[in-house]
Amino acid sequence: MASSSKSKSKKATAEKTAAASTAAARQGTDSPFDVTDSAQLKEGILRHLTYTLARDLKTAQLSDWWIATSLAVREHILARLIDTQGTHNDNNVRRLYYLSLEYLMGRLTESNLYNTGLNAAARDALAGLGIDYHKLLDQETDMGLGNGGLGRLAACFLDSLATLDYPAIGYGIHYEFGLFRQEFVNGYQVEYPDSWMINGTPWEVARPENRITIPIYGRVENVFDDRGNCRPRWVDTKTIVGIPYDIPIAGFGTKTVNLLRLWSSRAASEFDLQAFNAGGYVEAVREKAVMETISKVLYPNDKTENGKELRLIQQYFFVACSLRDLIRRHFRSPENSWDNFPAKVAIQLNDTHPAVAVPELMRVLLDDENTPWDRAWDIVTKVFGYTNHTLLPEALEKWSVALFERILPRHLQIIYDINTRLMQTIEARWPGDVEKKRACSIIDEQGVKSVRMAGLSVVASHAVNGVAALHTDLLKKHLFPEYDALFPGRFQNKTNGITPRRWLLDCNPRLSALITATLGHEKWARDLDLLRGLEKHAGDAAFQKEFMAIKHANKVDLAGLIKTECGVEVSPDALFDVQIKRLHEYKRQHLNLLHILALYRRLLQNPSLDIVPRVFVFGAKAAPGYDLAKNIIRAINIIGSHINHDPRIGGKLKVVFLPNYRVSLAECIIPAADLSEQISTAGKEASGTGNMKLALNGALTIGTLDGANVEIKEEVGDENIFIFGLTVEEVEALHAKGYRPREYYERDEELRAIVDWLGSNYFTPSENGAFALTQRSLLDGGDPFLVLADFRAYSDCHARVDKKYRDQAAWARSAILNTARVGKFSSDRTIREYAAQIWNLPAVKVD
Ligand SMILES: *Cc1c(COP(=O)(O)O)cnc(C)c1O
Repeated sequence: MASSSKSKSKKATAEKTAAASTAAARQGTDSPFDVTDSAQLKEGILRHLTYTLARDLKTAQLSDWWIATSLAVREHILARLIDTQGTHNDNNVRRLYYLSLEYLMGRLTESNLYNTGLNAAARDALAGLGIDYHKLLDQETDMGLGNGGLGRLAACFLDSLATLDYPAIGYGIHYEFGLFRQEFVNGYQVEYPDSWMINGTPWEVARPENRITIPIYGRVENVFDDRGNCRPRWVDTKTIVGIPYDIPIAGFGTKTVNLLRLWSSRAASEFDLQAFNAGGYVEAVREKAVMETISKVLYPNDKTENGKELRLIQQYFFVACSLRDLIRRHFRSPENSWDNFPAKVAIQLNDTHPAVAVPELMRVLLDDENTPWDRAWDIVTKVFGYTNHTLLPEALEKWSVALFERILPRHLQIIYDINTRLMQTIEARWPGDVEKKRACSIIDEQGVKSVRMAGLSVVASHAVNGVAALHTDLLKKHLFPEYDALFPGRFQNKTNGITPRRWLLDCNPRLSALITATLGHEKWARDLDLLRGLEKHAGDAAFQKEFMAIKHANKVDLAGLIKTECGVEVSPDALFDVQIKRLHEYKRQHLNLLHILALYRRLLQNPSLDIVPRVFVFGAKAAPGYDLAKNIIRAINIIGSHINHDPRIGGKLKVVFLPNYRVSLAECIIPAADLSEQISTAGKEASGTGNMKLALNGALTIGTLDGANVEIKEEVGDENIFIFGLTVEEVEALHAKGYRPREYYERDEELRAIVDWLGSNYFTPSENGAFALTQRSLLDGGDPFLVLADFRAYSDCHARVDKKYRDQAAWARSAILNTARVGKFSSDRTIREYAAQIWNLPAVKVD
């Protein structure tokens, strides 16, 4: 079973070091919960087992113990939640509302134990009850309500917001099914529904009393008021009900507990009487079912638009519920009004997915509140901020005007009105310039007339940010040069980050214990720059030995997981070369595959070739409709299996593809990685955050000058990272002059041989053209992501990796310096920058 990872990966030694680490933690940081000892927690666990779950001790399953333990911890967290919300309400504080269609939370129990400081008490309590702590944690199915980096960023941000005592609420959708579960059958990816709630959901609280009803569909009627003013009215609408599910977000080492509020859709309880009376009983019931479908499933596409009606309805549904909810919150304080709304409310759009919030807030102000346009627009533009996550044209959201009009007719009118005013501004700035108008228009008139959500978001936000320095640069230069000229200062950079709690403290207890022992405190978990204190030990042979012994122990654990998951025996002495991320052409897993083929071929031609033994570890899901990505998965699986079984190469190469890549699996792989593959085509990866997690855990990066790799290189130093390949400028120049992949193919004998090999039936004797899709994309398909152009540089760079790994002292030094120097990539730093430069958000200490 895929879920057995944790227990296998954490052995007794880890238990000891982790216990030591926790003890140190309890000295270093004052836990707000240290009054709760293990006896009290044990009492809570038993109480919930008996009185909440109605379970007999003798027949209780491990999953019951997991729920009972979570509930015992939860009651302390909920008490803090009530205190925190009370403090925020009583002081009428300014709040951030983070709108995101995705939250890739992973498991909640362990991180809640660490963040509240109840970890040691829970271990003791469970030990006293004869329950294995890791097996218990392994009962939890990941909360995988996101696709990849964007959703995981939202989850890291929630952790940092609470840890830094910022008043914040995250809003999203309570999907019944998160990202699909992946299995491999004959190398093919097969998708299964992710029933993440099946074992119970002890961390959420349903709040049906806070349900919200919103309109949808219908038409706009022009009604004239008693002064002869035309007042559009949205009529003949259908209704959707949103039920909120609240998940408490406990900060690390603080009393703040924020809220993640996720909406589940229901039909209105009454039938549509009109349809009913017209004999449309079946129609009315069918419609009820449709409304309950809205929050059913997460769309599994990462970085490609979906364009489906249900997706737009999902977006509108959660945004409309969230806006009503936050407006209700605002007006709960009697001193509040629309006048001070922008002083109390900051709303961040995580990509354009929630951008329909712009016309929705305008509609509330114009139609419901009778606000004049200019004043409504002033409020809107003061409140919203927008984060752009990609430059890929296929990821930029567009909605056909026809679809929009059918679902949200009044919103479409408002968007047209916004656009008319925008065009007037453009005319004033660049009189008579049709090109500028075409570039800036929110309505795309080319082909199928459509609404451009990025344009809408930029125009309506006081701040627009990219997610790494290079990305923000390209955003201004290539995607939005006209907007940048029109709105000077609006574009800014906020380099992404990761929470050091989940991505070091929780997932790598051995390394955490070493760091805490070396620095003499655990303050680094709240101030990651303190890891710089490790720099002075980087050259110390004894410290290097300890550091590498930890890496080795983590590799032993991962080798055990690989054995159970893939049935492949791998040596923990080999170099663990890791590429874990969504499967995408731009991320170039097929470049990695070509390098594996090259190594394999070199070994076959020269069996005594002296190379560092390698284990290639992959983890990746492909969008179900992305045929090329699925073909690459199958190629890696089948070629990998062939290599694993070839006795001629003496076990020097192993290739494993761990199925169902997700947060909890990442937590097992990352502590064991030697080499981090970050090899996207320059200019295509906006930031990356996997790169940060791996560097923090002492993996060296092999990567292009793309996204945050550029900043990782600046931090760790050129000698501690392997950079190769074309730069953004070189990529642009190559495309400009006309890229011909066949030139590289014909010029490079080895490259030609392996590309031909890939296209042959050598690896699939009973099937011709099994990997033709992949091979063709590199040749006839024009190789849009320059795999062939970068191959030789990549292969040469790997030779440098090989050379360095043979010098274990040099490697250890670089690995230590990676951990020591990536403090910048804490999401605490990112969140402080957002709070200071976009949200103008003061922290509020809760006591
Ligand atoms: C961090 C993370 C990602 C993002 O990885 P990138 O390498 O930045 O694309 C995707 N999925 C999961 C499960 C993650 O934890």
